Amino acid sequence: MYHGAQYGWIEVISGVMFSGKSEELLRRVRRALIARKKVQVFKSHLDDRYGGVFRVSSHDGAAFDAHPVHASVQIAELVRLDTDVVAIDEAQFLDDGIVRVANDLADRGVRVIVAGTDMDFRGEPFGPMPLLLAVAERVDKLHAICVRCGDLATRNQRLIDGRPAPAEGPTIQVGGAESYEARCRRCHEVPHVDRAQTELTMGEGSRA
Ligand code: ADP
Ligand code: ZN
Repeated sequence: MYHGAQYGWIEVISGVMFSGKSEELLRRVRRALIARKKVQVFKSHLDDRYGGVFRVSSHDGAAFDAHPVHASVQIAELVRLDTDVVAIDEAQFLDDGIVRVANDLADRGVRVIVAGTDMDFRGEPFGPMPLLLAVAERVDKLHAICVRCGDLATRNQRLIDGRPAPAEGPTIQVGGAESYEARCRRCHEVPHVDRAQTELTMGEGSRA
């Protein structure tokens, strides 16, 4: 097949953390390689959860070499002319320019697979994800299991010292001591910082 005859498109794999986005991205990459496609994998340099920024890893331990990028323009510069498939993980951390980059690649025949969590810890749209979801030809929204009640989880619960993190925290917490859980809408907790402080004060008062 010569490259010019090929149609490009954008497919987005979104959903909450632990929903299997990286697993699904890796599955699609593996199958593209079996089909002898030329594949390049990128991921935001901000994600170094699983032993180094140079790999896309899923929570089940599978991994694939990935090129870490700081900005969407780097992807545009690094994609080779003969590349058939571009896979991008942790796209929520990238700038809005990723929409242009993905569209340009798809326009010239590249299959662009983008994975990213669609909501931040407050339950609000995360970075360029809502834009990517809008322009994609294909969208898959994956779910995890709520660690509280066992229902389908759609939201990222940020915890600091085991307690729900207040809404005022930064959207992207780099190198923080926070952790995340997958939770459903009902179990998702985002306390307002003032309320959290009041509770803390009341707690101290009742101990005195
Ligand atoms: P994502 O990229 O969406 O964060 P991964 O592909 O890295 O997800 O990991 C998905 C895997 O995480 C699942 O196959 C499962 O083994 C594991 N996992 C851990 N916690 C949960 C949970 N609460 N719900 C579902 N899967 C979970
Ligand atoms: Zn729940």
